[in-house]
Amino acid sequence: MSARRCDALSSTWSVDEHLADVLGAVRPLEPLELSLLDAHGCVLVEDVTVPTALPPFDNSSMDGYAVRTADVAGASEEFPAVLTVVGDVAAGSGELPEVGPGQAARIMTGAPLPPGAQAVVPVEWTDGGKGAGPAAAMAAASTDPSGAAGEVRVHRAAAEGRHVRRAGSDAAAGELALAAGTVLGPPQIGLLAAIGRGSVRVRPRPRVVVLSTGSELVPPGEKLGPGQIHDSNSFVLTAAARDAGALAYRASAVADDADSLRDAVEEQLVRADVLVTSGGVSVGAYDVVKEALGERLDADGGAVEFRRLAMQPGKPQGFGLVGPDRVPLLALPGNPVSSYVSFELFVRPVIRTLMGLPSVHRPKVRARLAAEAPLTSPDGKRQFLRGRYEPSEGGGTGGVRPVGGAGSHLVAALAQADALIVVPESVTEVAPGEELEVLLLGVDGSAV
Ligand code: AMP
Ligand code: MG
Repeated sequence: MSARRCDALSSTWSVDEHLADVLGAVRPLEPLELSLLDAHGCVLVEDVTVPTALPPFDNSSMDGYAVRTADVAGASEEFPAVLTVVGDVAAGSGELPEVGPGQAARIMTGAPLPPGAQAVVPVEWTDGGKGAGPAAAMAAASTDPSGAAGEVRVHRAAAEGRHVRRAGSDAAAGELALAAGTVLGPPQIGLLAAIGRGSVRVRPRPRVVVLSTGSELVPPGEKLGPGQIHDSNSFVLTAAARDAGALAYRASAVADDADSLRDAVEEQLVRADVLVTSGGVSVGAYDVVKEALGERLDADGGAVEFRRLAMQPGKPQGFGLVGPDRVPLLALPGNPVSSYVSFELFVRPVIRTLMGLPSVHRPKVRARLAAEAPLTSPDGKRQFLRGRYEPSEGGGTGGVRPVGGAGSHLVAALAQADALIVVPESVTEVAPGEELEVLLLGVDGSAV
């Protein structure tokens, strides 16, 4: 697993080294045939061709009358063409009336053009078949199921094909509908449905299980006892995993007990493509994740390697492939801001790599520091500060305003942020107005 051969605990990894190590260990999931809605958001792995023309038959784009063009040539308000209405064609009609010379068929949007007809005149170009206003006439005619409303007066000529959607005009049979590699958004799902595909081969969404650790944790909705806090990380991380594209499950928090944690991990392994833990990875006395997972889980199981990263927040991190299926496990620090930042930097790219998505990282932009005072940052560490991004009105470099301080417990400030401000390892001070790199949260890499 490790790209570097070293004593992980006694050395410090850069953010990039850790990310490269993690991403180097994961491969896209094997494709599955999934029903359309389950395939939404996934990457297609087959070229899909159009089996039969779309639309499958010539049909009307308007409510009106299907006519022969010669019958309405030269028709006007003053000299309307008077046609005999021979039937009614609704969307879904199987049996169609033949439209002969001097005849018309009342037709609805999406209904097949009946044989003999060459164009459709919208109802607004006619007397609606009753000599009254078009709306009243359509309403009157609709009470007559045969649609044989007698006669219709047409006030305007229509050229061949007018208001007719030709078979195959959307997509021809045999044409490529969607190429392998396409990310299936709603319009792509719609196209697949339109051409009759009920299921497609895609890379599935990974199943991510989130386990938080800490004897102090109580689920939201329950009363806090002395020294207790609500478990927020498992909710943030589960929501973030879903946001990244995963099917994420939140397991209940595990107390700071190595055996319980080992049991919980083993129990969850069978249903996870990725395991994410929070807490218990630093050097405190009850840092059980390290204690429980730093050794082999079972005869087959791999181990999790714990390391220090040159970043703030998020210094302690664990990563390994565990269990017989070598499921990636990312052990994130417990401080709420640290765990969320770690998720964005390391877990989100893992999820998106497993999905085979073309862009796995949040988009980066340059922005000017919008602050009254300089920012300070520790030497040798890449710092990720929370901020609000302000795009420039003129389309140039935008600004970014820090929210809250550097404290990794500041969840209220985190909830105000929509960006992470990146202060490089070698930079210890940033003056207002200076340019920085910013990661845009809430924006998919593919969107920028
Ligand atoms: P740890 O990494 O387990 O030492 O936790 C560091 C800090 O984060 C402590 O103040 C914990 O109480 C807090 N913390 C750990 N896990 C969670 C969680 N799931 N939700 C909220 N805070 C947490
Ligand atoms: Mg803890």
